[in-house]
Amino acid sequence: MKTFNIYKHPTQGIQAVKVGFSWPALFFGILWLLSKKLWSFSGIWVATYFFLTITERATEHFAGSQAKAFLYLILAACYFAVWLVPAFKGNSWREHNLFKRGYEKIESIQSKNPDAAIAQATKNNPPNTGAQEHAEPNNLNHYYEVVAEEIKNKKIEPGLFVRATAEGGGDKEKTRSIYIKLRVNELISKHKTKIKQEENQNKIKINLKNKEKNERTINSIGKYIYGSIFLFLTLGISLSLIGIITQNGIPKTVESFFGLLPLLIWIPLIIFVYKKFRKNATLSEEPTPATHVRCPDCRELIAKESRVCKYCGCKLIPQ
Ligand SMILES: [Zn+2]
Repeated sequence: MKTFNIYKHPTQGIQAVKVGFSWPALFFGILWLLSKKLWSFSGIWVATYFFLTITERATEHFAGSQAKAFLYLILAACYFAVWLVPAFKGNSWREHNLFKRGYEKIESIQSKNPDAAIAQATKNNPPNTGAQEHAEPNNLNHYYEVVAEEIKNKKIEPGLFVRATAEGGGDKEKTRSIYIKLRVNELISKHKTKIKQEENQNKIKINLKNKEKNERTINSIGKYIYGSIFLFLTLGISLSLIGIITQNGIPKTVESFFGLLPLLIWIPLIIFVYKKFRKNATLSEEPTPATHVRCPDCRELIAKESRVCKYCGCKLIPQ
């Protein structure tokens, strides 16, 4: 028996993802990544493979057997990683990918294979039918039916009824027919207003989402910039320290860019840059199943600890 995490999409059905090692990913590599729609990972895989092959070709005629042996050892390790990483990480990449595509984790199931897991999950979670059926139909008959039902239940709008009586001039049947017409028109205009409100809300939602996406992009650019500066400074300081140590403590490197004296300046700077890097990295993070859930009302991604959905204002119980 294996464990499968079950992911469900409101319209695209159910997917089962095995927890842990993936044999198909080990045997089929890039083909497996493509078949699971892991486009960005497939791109990275191909780019890495390409880069390794180029490096191998370019260094074929290198002189110096020791350096070459070392380089080949690194290359071999990289090829091995390209082969093994998808097998170990592939299933969790799939979970992230499904989550990003609007799926939600509903349960974990013990099963022999994915098909059996999906069958069992489908039995436990019959497909939604509610949402579509409750949507208001746009034909006129529907509104007449609603009004007929209201009259049957003696649910009369007093204002409209008075108006209908006035226009009917005392005729009971005429009053009744005028009332029905007025009430139907009222229902239709209410429905139209509701649709307009929903459209406006959607526009606000889309703007909010775009704004967040832009902020994330800016922060992730910042992350790479600060990350590079951090690496550069760390490397510089490490090299200077090695220089100092190997020269038996003679501070000859003091004159150099990363020398001992400026260390007093460089170290706070490194800490500052590192803090900036961390902050940008956290802000630029994409939502993951560990940090976000979908709002039960509007299906937008919101932080797990939210009490109110920022998109639709729906009240939530933090998880
Ligand atoms: Zn919401």
